[in-house]
Amino acid sequence: MVVMEDYDVIVIGGGSTGTSVARDCAMRGFRTILFERGDLASGATGACAGMISGGTKYVLQEPEFSEMCTREVVTLSRIAGHIVFRTPIITAILTEEEIKLRASFVEKYGALTEKRQASPILILSPQEARSLEPKLSNNIILAAYFDEMFIDPFRLTVLTALSAKQHGAEIRTYTEVVDVLHRDGEVYGVRVKDRLTGRDEEIRGRIVVNAAGAWVPEISRIVGIKQTLRLNKGAHVVFDRRITRFGIICRALDGRTVYLFPHETGSILGTTAIDIFTSPDEAEATYDEIEYLISSMEMAVPSVRDARIVRVMCGVRPLIAQWWVPEGDVTRNFRVIDHEERDGVRGLVSVEGGKLVVCRAMAEKITDLVCEKLGREAECRTHLEPLPGADGKVNVEEIASRYHFSPHTAGRLISRQGTLSSIVLSEASNERSLLSSVCLCEAVTEAELRHVIRNEWGVTLDALRRRTRMGMGPCQGFSCGFKAMAILAEERGMGVEEAFRELERFLAERWRGHIVVLRGSQLSEYEMTQAAYACVGSIDMKVGEEE
Ligand SMILES: Cc1cc2nc3c(=O)[nH]c(=O)nc-3n(C[C@H](O)[C@H](O)[C@H](O)COP(=O)(O)OP(=O)(O)OC[C@H]3O[C@@H](n4cnc5c(N)ncnc54)[C@H](O)[C@@H]3O)c2cc1C
Repeated sequence: MVVMEDYDVIVIGGGSTGTSVARDCAMRGFRTILFERGDLASGATGACAGMISGGTKYVLQEPEFSEMCTREVVTLSRIAGHIVFRTPIITAILTEEEIKLRASFVEKYGALTEKRQASPILILSPQEARSLEPKLSNNIILAAYFDEMFIDPFRLTVLTALSAKQHGAEIRTYTEVVDVLHRDGEVYGVRVKDRLTGRDEEIRGRIVVNAAGAWVPEISRIVGIKQTLRLNKGAHVVFDRRITRFGIICRALDGRTVYLFPHETGSILGTTAIDIFTSPDEAEATYDEIEYLISSMEMAVPSVRDARIVRVMCGVRPLIAQWWVPEGDVTRNFRVIDHEERDGVRGLVSVEGGKLVVCRAMAEKITDLVCEKLGREAECRTHLEPLPGADGKVNVEEIASRYHFSPHTAGRLISRQGTLSSIVLSEASNERSLLSSVCLCEAVTEAELRHVIRNEWGVTLDALRRRTRMGMGPCQGFSCGFKAMAILAEERGMGVEEAFRELERFLAERWRGHIVVLRGSQLSEYEMTQAAYACVGSIDMKVGEEE
């Protein structure tokens, strides 16, 4: 067992919250280390829609929280501009009763337009709405136009971690906290296991921040603290193309709200909200949830029923434990817990609830508490400094013409890497083959893959997928998996057997996100894909699944 030197702050969890805490702590001068048991953004953060809104729902129920969200939308647009994008949305109204329900939303949310830096809300007749969005059904009786900002949750998390690293923090992915070291009512460190090498280590720290999302109670339990969250599962259906030009919002069959958003090169349909009472590790999307989403959305967009699904993703919201209220009424605000004050356990802080959009604000509050506990006065600057790649604008045409590739490829790279794009491409000046696209669906070049392997903790194929979208398009890794495997193997010095096992693991993970939707023609299509892997590559995707 290796015992590592002391840190001021140990952060558990590499989602949007944990990485934001690591960044803030490092920026305020604390010696900080973060442990994530999987890849960055492999929890709820990677399963979310990435909508950073002033809280379309919360504006009516929780105006103060909605104000905070609105402030954070503007902040994120400033500090992470290249990964934030605006999506125009049409709310399709299907019943008379809904007109009344939506009226107060239009009034209250409309009043925030200027603060949100958004377009005004416009009321549209069914004809006007259909002329803008021909995929809308004839059932709609009225519509409202507005827009919202979205962010790439994977890039947000990686860039936040990168910024933390630039300020001195250590970020350790695939490293699980397996024990929290404590004695006489004081937490003084953690024991971790590297999941790739199997190595055990003990790390000492003055404060442990438990930012493990839905797993927060599991960490607290280790030191004998009972902590309850309202764990709430949500699923998204991912389609292979943009079904509509606009984002569409409508009422679901049970009266909730569902949405169909253009998302990168495809569309996402979401979301469900189901309380769960077992381990978040067991949460999986069911076919029933998918049917619920499609049956609801087809009232507004009939063609969604025939669209090709490429994946279903699912995550667990770590909500504050409010009971005896429907899920929709549970606050999305957050609470920072000082366990010394609440449970008499020194050195442990945790966070409950929250949303992606307020991750920076959550971190600010947590780090304020860390400062108070460690007796340091340091101002938060996370809202002022841009994240890596967001310190300027990049000209797509200029990059495309300098490197002789298509504006589409240049545009996709810049939407992920911003001003870092020239660094990503710099090596390609001498070696033009690095400019060839490995993933055609998402226009990911070899240069970009090598860059994220070397600089962004890209240690597995899954990690490359989250950072670049390699394998996330219509083919789900079928055409790029092998090529990416060869690049990863070369960069990391992997042997042939190890490289193939890594590819199997990657494909098995893709398979897990697909198996639930396989019905009819989608099933036969998938059988063809499996046959191709088995016959051409000698790869049986179920091998990885059984591990
Ligand atoms: C379907 C869905 C849609 C959503 N849509 C939106 C949206 O549009 N906008 C929005 O603002 N919010 C949205 N949210 C909410 C948002 O995703 C979450 O509130 C937020 O991402 C939570 O981030 P987190 O870092 O707290 O948790 P997580 O992202 O779950 O991160 C916790 C991390 O801790 C790690 N961990 C657990 N145990 C250990 C251990 N022992 N050792 C080391 N690491 C450990 C996990 O692997 C995980 O990566 C959505 C959520 C869901 C589920």
